[in-house]
Order: sequence, then structure tokens, then C-alpha cells
Amino acid sequence: MIRTRFAPSPTGYLHLGGARTALYSWAYARRHGGKFILRIEDTDLERSTEASVQAILDGMRWLGLDWDEGPFFQMQRLARYREVIEQLLRDGHAYPCYATREELDALREQQRARNEKPRYDGRWRPENAKSRGLTPPAGAKPVIRFRNPDVGEVSFTDLVKGTITVANSELDDLVLLRADGVPTYNFGVVVDDLDMLITDVIRGDDHVNNTPRQVNIMQALGAQLPRFAHVPMILGADGERLSKRHGAVSVMQYPEEGMLPEAMVNYLARLGWSHGDAELFSRDQLVEWFDLKHVSHSAAQFDPAKLRWMNHQYLKTADSDALAALVAPRIERDGGVLADGPPLAAVVALLKDRAETLNALAESAMMFYRELHAEAALLAQHINDAVRPALRDLEAAFSALADWSHDPINAAVQEVMKRHKLKMPALAMPVRVAVFGLAQTPALAHVLALAGRQRVLARLQQYSGT
Ligand code: GLU
Repeated sequence: MIRTRFAPSPTGYLHLGGARTALYSWAYARRHGGKFILRIEDTDLERSTEASVQAILDGMRWLGLDWDEGPFFQMQRLARYREVIEQLLRDGHAYPCYATREELDALREQQRARNEKPRYDGRWRPENAKSRGLTPPAGAKPVIRFRNPDVGEVSFTDLVKGTITVANSELDDLVLLRADGVPTYNFGVVVDDLDMLITDVIRGDDHVNNTPRQVNIMQALGAQLPRFAHVPMILGADGERLSKRHGAVSVMQYPEEGMLPEAMVNYLARLGWSHGDAELFSRDQLVEWFDLKHVSHSAAQFDPAKLRWMNHQYLKTADSDALAALVAPRIERDGGVLADGPPLAAVVALLKDRAETLNALAESAMMFYRELHAEAALLAQHINDAVRPALRDLEAAFSALADWSHDPINAAVQEVMKRHKLKMPALAMPVRVAVFGLAQTPALAHVLALAGRQRVLARLQQYSGT
């Protein structure tokens, strides 16, 4: 059975890159009827926060990435890491190292001076310590280092990048366990991926250099390797790594901006993966299609305009009642009173075609829920003595309508227009300005029908000079 995981470090919000990694891991597990595991890698004690754990969980829930197991927290598994350390120590794959920070700094300086790559020199490997006459300083707590193989190569097949091989001579003896008993990333990730029976490690390719080390540790533990898939980074339009400069990088900023989670999932899925030339596809289609073969080999570029376009496609076709539920709190937050206007779903049905975000939709719906009067300049521009007689006639025609709905309203407008020899905009603009305080609205008869006869007549009376 396929088992994938998302293993974020809770040191900030859930950013777009993390969300995409989570999405791919989730989609891959769902595609194969497997399990998706959430693991919080909270071993960076200084930078990990509870707020960040919450932000990650919120982001995943908003995107609809449900997990089957977890969240597991690495800091709750310290006893287990200690156990595996004991095994590695017993088998000679690990050893305690008492080198102080000062010693290691000095070592690095010497290596730099010789133009060598800085690396730990293995001084506390048992045979070296012995030949140098090193003995553990009294009371000092050691770190535990991995005894990396000295010779040969380490190799793994990456499902995105192909086979990757590194000479062991390139790798030094990395710290597995810090003196305080907290594992380093490379050790914690190995123990957990093995314990959690992960079959496919899907993650950002910023970790590809860690993988040979992880493979060596796994082999020292006699474990079977999972498959690896390293997904290229997301860059901004300028080719730089994605950062705040490129707009929102926290996923949870997008619901605030009025994006739909379906659109975000679709966008992130396409950002670095393709299925033929399909651009718009549902979550179910993604699950049906997702594979690692079609993950792009080069970095993806984040394009906020395309995300907005995609959101627009989803808004246009979304169910109006469902959209109304998302738009309502936005209108209320901005001071609109829903009880004062027409049913929101009807308004949304009229306006959703032209809005790119829920916020834009709420903003345009506001005309029905807030008493807005035109500014003096707009009034002066559109409502004058030439048009007032037509407005008065319109008022009379509207009052006489048996049925307040689109078609009769439209017929009345056409009739008054003809009678006064006006072109459509010459009548429609003043009506818009009078009734809604706005120079632009969707088609006049539609918005008047929604606004209700009472409001329309009251406003026309106010401005027609009756
Ligand atoms: N905690 C690591 C990170 O957030 C996870 C990397 C991995 O998936 O192995 O970058």
C-alpha cells in the first residue's frame, strides 16, 4: 500500500511551496488508495511555534487535504530516536563526539585556509580518538554522529530527477542526535519515514542534497529504501525564489483575498505538474490523474494573474447559494445589511460572472445592501433638467407595473427611452446614479428588479424633482 507524508517544520505559515508538496503527497496517496500521513517536524526548538502548527493545520483544512494518520510530533518521539541511536551505536554505525564548538570552529578555519571544503574530520571516531589519546571530558554530554561509509558511492533513484549518485567521500559524519537528545532533521526524518512505513517521500528539491545522507542511515539500519520524488521549487515571475515580494506566500492569505480552495488546489496542482493540456480540473480528476511522471523537471513560476483567472473560472460556475454563504460575512464585515436587500443568492447569480474573487463579488453586491448616494460631481454630470422629465415618466411607468420583474421593467425603460428620444446610456446612467449612487452596474433591468420597487421609486423621486 502506498503511504506518503507531509512533514512540515512549524516555523512559519504554510507557504505555497509547502502546500503544493502537501497536495502532491496527498493526491498521490489518494490516487493509489493509500494513506497520507501528517508529521510535524518540531525539533527546531527556537523557531517552532504552536501558532505555526495551527497555521499549517488551518491551511491544509482549507485546501481540503485530509490526512489519515497524525499529526505526529517529533518532540513526542524522543524515546524512539534514543532507541534507534542505541542500535546504531551497538552496530558501530554511530559514535559519541565530544568536540566543542570552539574546536569545530577552529577546524573549519584551518580547512578554509587550505581551500578545503569544511567538514568534520572524524576525530571522535573510536579508532581516531584512541590513537589521538582523546578521552571523554568529565561531565560533558556528547552529540551522536553517524559513521558515514568512507568508500564507495551512495545512489538512489528519484522519480522526478532520475538516478542520483554521490561519492561517500563527499559526505562527512553528520550529527544524528544533539547533546540534549533532540534529533537532527536528517535523523528524525529517517526514523520517522521508516517507522511510519512511508513508501514514497515526495518533497521539495531543496532537500535533494540531504537524501544521500538519509539513504546511508537507512542502509545502516538495514532498512528498505522508500522511493523518492523531489519536486522543483516555485519561483516568482522574476526567476527568484518565491518570497513576500511576489505577493502572498502564506496560503491562508488567499481565503482572505477571496480565493476558492478548489481554484487554489487546481492552480497548485498545475504549478509543476500537467495532464496533457488540461488547465481546469476538479479535485476528483486530479486524484484520478495524478502521477509523478508528469511532475515538471524545471522550477515552476508563480503567476498571480493566472491564479486570479482560475479563481474566476471557479466563481463563474460555482453554485450561487454556496457562494452567497461565503460572500455574506464579507458584506456584513464591510457594513452591508443583508436584511435590507434582495436574497443574496440572486444577487450573486447576477454578479458572479464578472468577479475574480469573493471579495470583488462582495464589493459589487454591496450596492444592494448599503444606501449609497452618488457624489455631487457624478450627480451633476448625469442628472440634469434635460433628463428629469424622463425620470419622472419612468417613475410613473414603474409604479404602474403589475409585476416587478426583469421583462416588464425592461419594457418600461424601452418605452420611456423612445418617448423621450433618448439612447440607452442617456437614460440608464442617470437611473444608475440615482438608484445606486454608481455609474456602473450590470444590465439595468436586472439590477432594478433585484433592488426592489420601493427602493427604486424612492430614489427616482428623490432625484427627479417630483
Ligand atoms: N521538515 C522538513 C521541511 O519542512 C521536511 C522535509 C521532508 O519532507 O523530508 O522542510
